[in-house]
Amino acid sequence: SNKLMAGKRGLIMGLANEKSIAWGIAKALADAGAEIAFSYVGDALRKRVEPLAAQIGATEIHECDVTDEASIDALFDHLGHIWGKLDFVVHAVVFSDKAELRGRYVDTSRDNFRVTMDISVYSFTAVCRRAADLMPEGGSLLTLSYYGAEQVMPHYNVMGVAKAALEASVRYIAEDLGKVGIRCNAISAGPIKTLSAAGIGDFRYILKWNELNSPLRRNVSQEEVGNAALFLLSDLGTGVTGEVHHVDAGYHVVGMKAVDAPDI
Ligand code: NAD
Repeated sequence: SNKLMAGKRGLIMGLANEKSIAWGIAKALADAGAEIAFSYVGDALRKRVEPLAAQIGATEIHECDVTDEASIDALFDHLGHIWGKLDFVVHAVVFSDKAELRGRYVDTSRDNFRVTMDISVYSFTAVCRRAADLMPEGGSLLTLSYYGAEQVMPHYNVMGVAKAALEASVRYIAEDLGKVGIRCNAISAGPIKTLSAAGIGDFRYILKWNELNSPLRRNVSQEEVGNAALFLLSDLGTGVTGEVHHVDAGYHVVGMKAVDAPDI
């Protein structure tokens, strides 16, 4: 294996279990020599995160609820205290009421709109600001998006609106922090069966549709997202910022169902 991340330290937020995209990224970064701290939310998740972290020799595991400013401050204060500086942060955090990830977007409630935007969008900005304080010599920030930001996807609803705002914030953060050598990017991942994805209506149908209609005629793996994250977070990606990089087997370039796809 390579050692692209040797000597680099960073935080991964949003590890819930071994299916999490955060875990695919953690494995790729750890293989490349990175030292990783994890944050999670809720007591129930700690016992899931601890054994995974142990697999890659990580011991810094901290609770952080991104809806709580004091909780984010405490996390970054701690990282500053133990490491002094950070090289990267991965934000793989999302939430929306699953009752609204089906049916019509137009029926989205004000409360769930606010909560979805707070947890899935604003939290990245809040985290980047704290991270930048620990990146005096530059660094790399990464969040996760989905094609529903660009085009209407069934059931994605308010999450699509949130991801559009998240992708726009990636561009604004890239400009704000670029002058101090900090890069900010997103990976737009194809559908992967995770805890959060399971909350989206007809998710299995979406997976099948992507498999049959993407140029590569398959879905992507957690490992493939991890490898793309390694590129963006390592010195291989030093010329890239403000980018939304698709890891979706090419699905986003297709305008019409291919003739070889059987009816589904
Ligand atoms: P996941 O459920 O494994 O991860 C989502 C994480 O968000 C969980 O760890 C959860 O605890 C955390 N979270 C929720 N509310 C939080 C809060 N208040 N504070 C802190 N953390 C909180 O699912 P995933 O699919 O790995 O999601 C990771 C990212 O990838 C998300 O941004 C998601 O939108 C994105 N994404 C997923 C897919 C997919 O098909 N799975 C596709 C494209 C993008």
